[in-house]
Amino acid sequence: MSYEKVTASVQARLRQIVGAAYVLTEREKMLPYSHDEVTDPSYHHLPEAVVLPASADETAAVVKLANTCHIPVVPRGGGTGLACGAVPIYGGIVLSTERLNHICEIRPDGLYAVVEAGVRTADLQAAAEARGLFYAGDPCSGDSCCIGGNIATNAGGNRAVKYGTTRHQIYALQIVNPTGHILSVGAPLRKQSTGYCLEQLLAGSEGTLGIITQATLKLFPKPPYCSDILAVFPTAEAAVTLASTLLQKGILPTCVEFLDQTTLHAIADFLQEPLPGQADGHYVIIEMESADEDERDRHLLQLDEYCRAGGASQVLLAEYKKIWHLRKSFAEAVRAESLCVSKEDVVVPIEREAELLQKIAATTARYRLTVRLAAHAGDGNLHLNILKPPAEDYDAWQRRVQAHQQELYTYIYQLGGRLSGEHGIGYKRKQLMKKFTNPEELAMMKAIKQAWDPNNILNPGKIFDLP
Ligand SMILES: Cc1cc2nc3c(=O)[nH]c(=O)nc-3n(C[C@H](O)[C@H](O)[C@H](O)COP(=O)(O)OP(=O)(O)OC[C@H]3O[C@@H](n4cnc5c(N)ncnc54)[C@H](O)[C@@H]3O)c2cc1C
Repeated sequence: MSYEKVTASVQARLRQIVGAAYVLTEREKMLPYSHDEVTDPSYHHLPEAVVLPASADETAAVVKLANTCHIPVVPRGGGTGLACGAVPIYGGIVLSTERLNHICEIRPDGLYAVVEAGVRTADLQAAAEARGLFYAGDPCSGDSCCIGGNIATNAGGNRAVKYGTTRHQIYALQIVNPTGHILSVGAPLRKQSTGYCLEQLLAGSEGTLGIITQATLKLFPKPPYCSDILAVFPTAEAAVTLASTLLQKGILPTCVEFLDQTTLHAIADFLQEPLPGQADGHYVIIEMESADEDERDRHLLQLDEYCRAGGASQVLLAEYKKIWHLRKSFAEAVRAESLCVSKEDVVVPIEREAELLQKIAATTARYRLTVRLAAHAGDGNLHLNILKPPAEDYDAWQRRVQAHQQELYTYIYQLGGRLSGEHGIGYKRKQLMKKFTNPEELAMMKAIKQAWDPNNILNPGKIFDLP
């Protein structure tokens, strides 16, 4: 794929659109935009310019210019992605949404919020809470990621068991399409059957179909009672089986999160804190919302009963802050152990999770891989982090990681699973996407991309390559 360069005259036109202060071209200033949270430098690429528009009109003018000049544009939110989706692999322009950071409206009567794409997820959560409301999207990176990035990756996170992923929070989007036109798709309606659902097509499109500039998102009344339970299981398989048991019994928790024993010890070492429950087991954190005290007490009794029936050796009422600090420290604890990590984000049908865990235990032992494992167990989504041993040669480690990936993914597709549960394909998983996706499904995705973006200027080389 070849593109035109961001010449001095293109830079001058970008400065006219957004103002000189908001076009970065110095290497030092552009370096933070050359990567996301994937630490392997072989995935990093420097843009030719970083542009920070303050409105949809400025965003549209930048994209129109880029499309006319045939320069790639890569949208970027918080840069917390784990698939190299926001990395400008062909150079060109990184369009950062960091100045599109206004919460435009919160409507308690209609239960929705209108926000710009660069609003941090945690800021929307806090603004909703201040009005007695609740925004359900909750990726673990919520303090740093943005709503636009959450929509573009269809971020999951901790509350997807009850509320679904980011795509389920969307009523409507304002987007800039690849030819630089502003479109509004969807509406804050509780139902509609009025043609194609384009706002859902944008969810998970990873910046390849349009730049999201504004979103209308669902809010809920803040649940009156919220309890966190910690259940400790003697085996990982018993621990992850709990999620499907609860759902079959008609119990719908907000979250069911899993941390395996080795990972727990790594996190405790990192935090320099004792574990809140037994140290010789695998943890499941269950969060349950209740309407009143009676319902809360009934929920707690039911959870205790089903956890113990599933083999739990300990069931505790957990302290919210402490238990979520432990869960959300997973990524940092892994990073403290090794900067060189291969992160898998696989997803399988919830009733096959235990089988997958057995397979992972067997294959990682055979390939001699050091593994840290956490899961959004209530969604069948496992984060498998494979650490490079400090003394091992990088290429030799990579060969083992890749051989393991081929075997693991073949098995996952046999179980009816997929490559990514929430992080997306980006640049990092593009080859695996090509290998494991049904060719007809992949061809349909490419046809959609070509129809939306005839010049292939919006985030090219992500998810798949076009011929
Ligand atoms: C510690 C840690 C914990 C994490 N936990 C979770 C988790 O629990 N659940 C989860 O799903 N993910 C998680 N992630 C991954 C990441 O935070 C999510 O993928 C998040 O949605 C990315 O948002 P961002 O704003 O940082 O996007 P970026 O990294 O900036 O971009 C991600 C993708 O979205 C595109 N994009 C960004 N903004 C726009 C826009 N306005 N319009 C169109 N395309 C756009 C980019 O081009 C890129 O393809 C975690 C990451 C870290 C580092």
